[in-house]
Amino acid sequence: MTAAPGSPSGWGAGTRAVHGDAGIEPGPDIAPPLHLSTTYARTGPDDELIYRRDDSRTVERLEAVLGELEGGVAVAFASGMAAITAVIRAVAPRRVSLPAATYHGTRMLLALDVADGRVELVEPDDLQAGDLWWLETPANPTCEVADIAAAAEARTRGVVVAVDSTFATPVVQQPLALGADVVVHATTKAINGHSDALGGAAITNDAGLLDRLRSRRVLEGAVMGAFDAWLTLRGLRTLPLRMERQSATAAALVDAIADLDVRRWYPTLDTQPGVGIARSQMRSGGSIFSFEFPGDDAAASRCMAELGLIRVATSLGGVETLAEHRRTVDADARPGLIRVSVGIEDLEDLRADLRGAITRALD
Ligand code: PLP
Repeated sequence: MTAAPGSPSGWGAGTRAVHGDAGIEPGPDIAPPLHLSTTYARTGPDDELIYRRDDSRTVERLEAVLGELEGGVAVAFASGMAAITAVIRAVAPRRVSLPAATYHGTRMLLALDVADGRVELVEPDDLQAGDLWWLETPANPTCEVADIAAAAEARTRGVVVAVDSTFATPVVQQPLALGADVVVHATTKAINGHSDALGGAAITNDAGLLDRLRSRRVLEGAVMGAFDAWLTLRGLRTLPLRMERQSATAAALVDAIADLDVRRWYPTLDTQPGVGIARSQMRSGGSIFSFEFPGDDAAASRCMAELGLIRVATSLGGVETLAEHRRTVDADARPGLIRVSVGIEDLEDLRADLRGAITRALD
């Protein structure tokens, strides 16, 4: 894999995931130490470390690797939603545009801001200088793809373009290189990859935005916990390996259910809206797909009950394959749609479980 544009090191992504924090805490440790202390001994006015809400070497190491992988400077937060909130607050837009296909948490957050009179939701053409164009691509849960480079043209009129790239991860797509101002991740998902740590990150090369993100994090207190940062850094080391395997298995599973009577949603599928954009801005289709029993909630519920190896749970990006009937958590989701987050299990085992469950649900 080639180096990310903007990467100072010139290393490939696999190398940057393992060594992107080299130079922080030089010493004999091969694995990063975990620093739990909330406060640090003062020695004089030039102390770099004073209090953990301001600075943490464990978080700094995670940010260094994430920044290397995305080609920008990363700021970590307590969760994906904390990172999304921080970006919206730091941009402080009067108007926001976001596609209908956006994670329901982001839609609900912006609905609160609309109800409070803070922002107005508008079409992209109505955005003005200082406003925010929020993209999420591929989108949760239909994997619909937005054209990042085309949206980034709005920057010429002063619009800030943000991309939630959680589904893709920096291994599959790099929004900053495509012209976005800021990229956001729920690191809770594939970046950590082990379903055991909450976190989020915003990555940018805009110095003003970076300053605002950092000062808001300190003052609003949405910092990532030290242990979560340590686990996430450990998980991130294997992100390129995991994404390669999980994306290949996801594509194979999408193929494996082609003959069944369900609609499939996956970025690089011929029938997917925006497939041409997906093929040009993504290196693979990623590890998540959805399938839909057209208009049929009951068949989707039956399918969930028939799954065995594949666990029924929310969330995504972990090493274990999970399925979720999205209507159970998002009232606006398509009724019969099931989202599958593909893990690292053997393809044959997953194929048998998935095909069996869909076939029995259709009977
Ligand atoms: N963005 C996307 C695309 C998500 O799927 C999620 C959660 O599922 C989030 C953001 C929120 O992340 P978190 O649960 O870490 O707050």
